[in-house]
Amino acid sequence: MIKVAITGAAGRMGGRIITLVTEAAGLEVAGAVEMAGHAKLGEDAGYVAGCGNLGIAITDSLEQALADADVLIDFTWPEVTIANAAVCEKLKKAMIVGTTGLNQEQRNIITRVAESTPVVFAPNMSVGVNVCFKVLKDIAKTLGEGFDVEIVELHHNKKKDSPSGTAVRMGEIVADALDRDYDQVANYHREGMCGERTKEEIGMQTVRGGDIVGEHTVYFIGMGERIELTHRAMNRDMFARGAVRAAGWLGGKDAGLYDMQDVLGLK
Ligand code: NAD
Repeated sequence: MIKVAITGAAGRMGGRIITLVTEAAGLEVAGAVEMAGHAKLGEDAGYVAGCGNLGIAITDSLEQALADADVLIDFTWPEVTIANAAVCEKLKKAMIVGTTGLNQEQRNIITRVAESTPVVFAPNMSVGVNVCFKVLKDIAKTLGEGFDVEIVELHHNKKKDSPSGTAVRMGEIVADALDRDYDQVANYHREGMCGERTKEEIGMQTVRGGDIVGEHTVYFIGMGERIELTHRAMNRDMFARGAVRAAGWLGGKDAGLYDMQDVLGLK
């Protein structure tokens, strides 16, 4: 049995992850954590998640939740994830990081933590998106320089970070395939007389509204033709399922930084 602790236990993703861990063969919930002062502290994690009582009370102590756990699944907020990663590093617990919006300094910390414990870090844990990541590289390499690349992502109106971690990853994959530096060529903003599009730039646009779970389209726009690669998330379970699959995969792995391409065997 792989024992899983979940942070953000009362959050949108945390609740679905708790439910899916209870349904997964070979996995069980060993701890559930929420922020200090949260209204759900002390309540049963399964009850809060809507999957029946589990006998696991939601705590604000990560150390306590990890005492009997092998792996932490963390879908919270960047600064929380970084604090939690330090605890996993200290206790030598495996960690799955689903939180998006980490800055470069925070990503470096995750990379350092992965030197002493196994970490899966993926801005998007869906199988479909990860297959898109794989084919994007081939499309970009094959089309080469003749096509303008624009990325548009849509999410619900509660999303805090923009553009999404998935859109940034898509941009990085295309930039890498075309031998460009993503940070130099990403263009997040066009307004007024901003001039013609450069050949190298990768346009990054965001749409926010309602309850859209997540949509990403990469446009490769040439002369007289264009390719649109679109992924649409219908609900959050595909992300939660990916995280649960990663928890099963991570059991017994050596320290190191892994992503969903590793988990899914796409490398
Ligand atoms: P949410 O706001 O519903 O949930 C976050 C939860 O974390 C909240 O319940 C909050 O109270 C809790 N939290 C805050 N501080 C905490 C602490 N110190 N300890 C424990 N819990 C704490 O957000 P969400 O929609 O569940 O998304 C969470 C993150 O996951 C976001 O960064 C989102 O972009 C990301 N996400 C990633 C994927 C993926 O596939 N990688 C998919 C969906 C969402």
